[in-house]
Amino acid sequence: MSQPVEPVEPVEPVRAAGLGRSSAGSRIAIDRVACTGHGICARILPDDIGLDEWGYPILRRPGGSTVSERDATVAVKLCPARALFRA
Ligand code: SF4
Repeated sequence: MSQPVEPVEPVEPVRAAGLGRSSAGSRIAIDRVACTGHGICARILPDDIGLDEWGYPILRRPGGSTVSERDATVAVKLCPARALFRA
């Protein structure tokens, strides 16, 4: 059984690394069975994904979030569990 994980505050340097938003959008979703709670998605998409008290992601907007193609591509690629996908 794993220990609860403290929620991670969004990290601004991710944006400084060139992961800004654009007006074009892509919907993202989370496979909650596959998700292992690394929280990387919440660091990449802090406006769209928060973390619960165990470190698992929560979409901030009901019905899902629309993010830039660029952000969606980065977040999907960096998800170590391949649990983040375009809806
Ligand atoms: S990066 Fe992937 S595995 Fe980690 S919390 Fe987000 S969806 Fe889950």
